[in-house]
This record gives sequence, structure tokens and C-alpha cells, in this order.
Amino acid sequence: MKTVLVLGGASEGRALAAALVGTADLRVVSSLAGRVSEPRLPVGEVRIGGFGGVGGLVAYLRAERVSAVVDATHPFAEGITANAAEACRVAGVPLVVLRRPGWEAVPGDDWTWVDSLAEAAAAVGERRAFITTGRQGLGAFRSGVARTVDPPDPPVPGVTVLLDRGPYTVDGELALLREHRIQVLVTKDSGGPMTAAKLTAARHLDIPVIIVRRPPLPDGVEVVGTVAEAVAWISRGTGAA
Ligand code: NAP
Repeated sequence: MKTVLVLGGASEGRALAAALVGTADLRVVSSLAGRVSEPRLPVGEVRIGGFGGVGGLVAYLRAERVSAVVDATHPFAEGITANAAEACRVAGVPLVVLRRPGWEAVPGDDWTWVDSLAEAAAAVGERRAFITTGRQGLGAFRSGVARTVDPPDPPVPGVTVLLDRGPYTVDGELALLREHRIQVLVTKDSGGPMTAAKLTAARHLDIPVIIVRRPPLPDGVEVVGTVAEAVAWISRGTGAA
């Protein structure tokens, strides 16, 4: 029996667990940080909470005799991705990063790329912003309407918070942008279909978008873009079907 550790926190982690659970001779453990109060749980075995840095993750990989790790965390979860790369190197465990492609502007879009939330907040200026960058780092903004899964802690004065979680529809996003008289949309380049409707809605309404670039991946890590490629990588490495 081989053990695969799936570092989750984005929809791909759940899809990967669903694709792998039930594979003969394969134990699949999904790991979540435990940030969201009611997370959508992957099927199969799940562990929740940090490992305790690189050292903790190395100890976990050894104790659980993990054969391979798939980092299917969110593209902006920089800390765990760096830790996984280092821990797998130290423990000699193969690692692949599953990263969905980023979004690309199409004709009609008015996008400004920035490198950080602070830069995004500066680019907003006095405009009424719809902020969809998550509750972490919301303190960079002084005003606007933010949509988050859980309430920001501590609260951010001046920012109105709407609690919701995707997937979203274009019609719903159009209604929201109109209702709040939004003048600019702020997003991370998360990619994927679950939250892309806001970009279509912004295009329809000629609302400019400020988009935060993804942080770079650690040097030398192997990357795949789809769940199917991650499954193929696992079966090559573990011999599991
Ligand atoms: P982060 O800065 O990359 O990680 C901070 C710490 O959280 C890590 O050092 C690790 O703690 C723990 N951690 C993160 N992901 C984990 C996992 N899958 N299993 C076990 N421990 C994990 O992470 P973050 O940006 O705060 O995001 C936290 C989680 O939310 C991630 O799993 C990510 O996929 C998800 N998420 C993040 C964003 C975002 O924009 N950042 C958006 C949507 C979802 P230890 O050092 O103790 O091991």
C-alpha cells in the first residue's frame, strides 16, 4: 500500500481526492489548513491543521511513510508551497504542484496587473471597489465592498463585507456590481471557473479590474495543470492504477 498526501485548500484538491479514492493499493490523505470554519471536505481520509513548519512536515512524511505529495493548494498559498518543496527535498519524497492556469484577459477587458495587495489598494484610489482577494490581507484596503467566505478577523473598518462562497454566476455578479455601484474590481489571479464570472460581468459593465500576479513557485518544482495530469503523475510514480 502506497500513501499519497494531497495538500488541499482549493477545488482541485477535492477533485483529485475524488479521482484517487478507491484506487487499489493506494491510501490517499487530504490535508487542509483549517482556516475556513466549515470547509468543503474532500472524500476519503482527511487531516486538518498545520504540520508545524518544514520540520513538522518532514516528520509527518516519514511517520506516515508517504510515497508522493501533490501540492494542490491555492496558487496564493505561498507558505505551504515553499514548505512542501523543502520538506519533500529533505525527506526524498517526490512532489508535484497542481496549479490551474491563471486567467487571461480577452478583448474588452481593462486589466491592470499588480504584485501585491498594497499595490492593488493604491491602484484603487478613491474608486468604489469590489474586493475579492479573501479575508487575509484585507487590512490593505480603507474602503469598498469585500466578499469573503468567513468574516475578516479583526474586522476592517470602512470595508463592507459580504459573506459568500462560489461558484458564482455572471447574472449574480452583474446584479452585485450594479447594486453596489462598483467602479473597480480587485482580484487575485486565482484562475479556474469557480470565481471567473466576476471577470465576465466586469467586462460587460466596462468596469476595470486590478489583478494581483501569482507569487513565483519554488525553483525546480514539477508542475501540472490538471487533475488528470496529477493522477497520471501519481500512477507513474507509485505504480497504482
Ligand atoms: P500559507 O500562507 O501558504 O500557509 C500558512 C501555513 O498554514 C502553512 O505554513 C501550514 O502550517 C498551514 N497550511 C496551509 N495549507 C495547508 C494544508 N493544505 N495542510 C496543512 N497545513 C496547511 O497558506 P494561506 O495562504 O494562509 O492559505 C491557507 C489555506 O487556504 C491553504 O491550504 C490554501 O490552499 C487555502 N486558500 C488560500 C487562499 C489564498 O489566497 N492564500 C485562497 C483560497 C484558499 P504549518 O507551517 O504549521 O505546516
